[in-house]
Amino acid sequence: MFASCGFCSGALGGDGGPSGLGVGRRFAFDPWRSRAWVVCQRCSRWNLTAIDERLDAIAALDRMAAAGRIAATSEQVALVRLGAYDVVRVGKPPRVEMATWRYGERIKARERERMKVVIPVAIAVVGLSVAVNVAAGGSMGAFMGQIPTLSNAIYTGIVGGRKVAIEPPICARCGAVMVLRAKHVRSARLQRTTRADLALLVICPSCKGEGALLEGADAETALRSGLTYVNLRQSGKLKKKASEAAAQVDVSGGPESFLARQAQREVKLGTYKGAEALALEMAVDEQAELHELERQWRQAEEIAEIADGLLVDPGVEDALRHLKDGGRPGG
Ligand SMILES: [Zn+2]
Ligand SMILES: [Zn+2]
Repeated sequence: MFASCGFCSGALGGDGGPSGLGVGRRFAFDPWRSRAWVVCQRCSRWNLTAIDERLDAIAALDRMAAAGRIAATSEQVALVRLGAYDVVRVGKPPRVEMATWRYGERIKARERERMKVVIPVAIAVVGLSVAVNVAAGGSMGAFMGQIPTLSNAIYTGIVGGRKVAIEPPICARCGAVMVLRAKHVRSARLQRTTRADLALLVICPSCKGEGALLEGADAETALRSGLTYVNLRQSGKLKKKASEAAAQVDVSGGPESFLARQAQREVKLGTYKGAEALALEMAVDEQAELHELERQWRQAEEIAEIADGLLVDPGVEDALRHLKDGGRPGG
């Protein structure tokens, strides 16, 4: 296996783990078409493994997928997590197990991000010696007790003010360009349309009317920003909430059917509370990742088709041999 990405030349990273490939942290395989890839962590492109090591790699990846937990699945793609490794199986639908531990990882990552703001704010107010203690929830007297609240409020404000990374829609009522921020998504409603399973009716920040209907990737992006904000504003024990959220998604049969059910309710995002709000965010996250993987997979299969086709084309084989012989024309 090559050590660097064929698309961006970045190092592929990771040690390959049980895949036996010696490199990579995220892998993809298509057992039905006998293809295996190492996914680049830098550019997300799929690097096709050499044909002679493919069968071994597929067998190893199949074992990894069987030992791991299925985090999300669509008709064609399953995302399986095994410790630090991700295995993407493409081609056929397996069963979903919405794993609580996976939510645990998400929550840890979110907590780390919060600390990046909370600690500097606390340091600015009370100095380094007590900031870490305060951020970790230590009690330092009445005044100090206000610091976590203050710095959390600042952090929530920062997240709420973040622009939603989509092409701003035009308001159907007042014609304004709707520059949406995470906090605006609170007043949006989930919808189900004839074209999309999941759509989002967003309120115009200028005229406060129902200004635009987002679908597909735009709806997903807006939901992800909005729900991060909605969930930040809520208090309570995250760990307990996480396992409740996982259970809610599980009971509905996975992220896709959970989201379909929520879309039918057509309620404002801001009305989601507690575990249900978290479940919604997690389900949207999983779906978005899956859609991105599906897009990458289609592209990777196209490239594999061409690459494998070239290998069996006698004309190309001849041309390659000539190149090896020193590139002499007709040699
Ligand atoms: Zn790359
Ligand atoms: Zn408007």
